[in-house]
Amino acid sequence: MNLEQAWHSTLSEMELQISRANFATWLKKSVLVDKKDGVFTVALPNSFAKEWVESKYAKTIMGIIRNLDSSVKKIEFVVASNLFEDSPAGKANEKPAANQSQIGFEFNKIDPETNLNPRYTFKSFVVGSSNELAYAAAISIVKEVGTKYNPFFVYGGVGLGKTHLLQAIGNEIKNNLKNQIKVKYVSSEKFTNDVIWAIRNKRMDDIKKKYRGVDVLIIDDVQFIGGKAATEEEFFHTFNTLYEANKQIIISSDRPPQSLPILGERLSSRFQGGLVADITFPEYEMRVAIIKNRLLESGQNLEGEIIDFIAQKVKRNVRELEGVLKQIIFYRDSKKIELNKKNVDEIIEKITRDSSSKTTPTQILKGVSQYFGISIEELTGQSRKKEYVEPRQIAMYFLREMLEMSYPSIGDKLGKRDHTTAIHGCEKINQEINKNAALNQKIFSIKEMINKTS
Ligand code: ADP
Ligand code: MG
Repeated sequence: MNLEQAWHSTLSEMELQISRANFATWLKKSVLVDKKDGVFTVALPNSFAKEWVESKYAKTIMGIIRNLDSSVKKIEFVVASNLFEDSPAGKANEKPAANQSQIGFEFNKIDPETNLNPRYTFKSFVVGSSNELAYAAAISIVKEVGTKYNPFFVYGGVGLGKTHLLQAIGNEIKNNLKNQIKVKYVSSEKFTNDVIWAIRNKRMDDIKKKYRGVDVLIIDDVQFIGGKAATEEEFFHTFNTLYEANKQIIISSDRPPQSLPILGERLSSRFQGGLVADITFPEYEMRVAIIKNRLLESGQNLEGEIIDFIAQKVKRNVRELEGVLKQIIFYRDSKKIELNKKNVDEIIEKITRDSSSKTTPTQILKGVSQYFGISIEELTGQSRKKEYVEPRQIAMYFLREMLEMSYPSIGDKLGKRDHTTAIHGCEKINQEINKNAALNQKIFSIKEMINKTS
């Protein structure tokens, strides 16, 4: 085997070992540029690809290569961006697939039996330090369903890939074990609605059959279950029934289990036998990888410089990153213009500003008063009755947290109160939240309500 072949085989082996997305992003385009005295020189398109490959894959690559050719002593990675520029001719020949003037985030058909969306796969899931543990656990679960990590609990903020990962587990298990195993994915909202429907229609047996008769139950955004006794009760029994029968339970949430009253108090011991993993914000390299992966999936192209720029600017979460990407490509294709840092920056600014300025003070006041079943007049009025004081302090808290309003204007909004009253209100809630799980839960539900109010 000559060295070139050895490199080719090494890549094929790597392709099997890492996810398709990661392979496509980091290694697919690597080029063997030199081989001398047992030293391989491999070119990569940019310095973060070099760093990434060196830190994550170098050892594995070396192991594979040595197996194929024991004379190889060393691999050196170099940056050679000129090798990777698409020639203008090449670009012109690369016609985008039909109907892809917009980046294709098409939603595949959801399987009615499992509720899984086949779009969410491990292959399209980019792995980096922010989700490594959760991903590794997910892979093990697929191999040892029900016995390895049970329950498996993933938590993290909005748009960081929890649903994607959970559904990928479900899809993979379903594909591997076809008809031998029953997988069910359910959002907590759906679960809650099902329980409420069943109670109304006296059909609780249906619910028990539906949820307690599966081999893998995936419950997404479990923080939304709770507050309603019957739903909590049903969740609790479903959990225990499945757990005791060694069925796989997979849960996601925006916060760790101990911060969820519904799990923390009654099921905490169960979690000691399972695995809890968090997903955090993707670091820069990963954001680049995700963008590239999205482009690849949809047959689109963007200049490296623009990709880097987007990854630098959009940091909050993956969902936002996808939204920005979609807009930029739409803009480019519909206006038929060249993208540059300036116009890309304008699009990003617009989108990120839109999403952060969505909430208004009025929405907050509305959301809070709706939650507590009082009127806005009562909320902002002068009465110091207990049933108004707490909602008022919570409203102050939200005005501060969500809108970063000044204390004087917060006081003003809530019935021309003094700024010290506003400070006191915000601080009171801030302190209580850390100690009081019920309040924590309440705050969360109110936030939901505020976001839904317009
Ligand atoms: P969450 O459930 O945590 O709010 P989602 O799973 O809905 O987040 O992710 C939001 C979007 O970002 C989805 O389109 C998802 O496919 C994508 N996404 C998130 N994380 C990744 C990742 N690591 N690799 C590829 N796509 C990702
Ligand atoms: Mg989700």
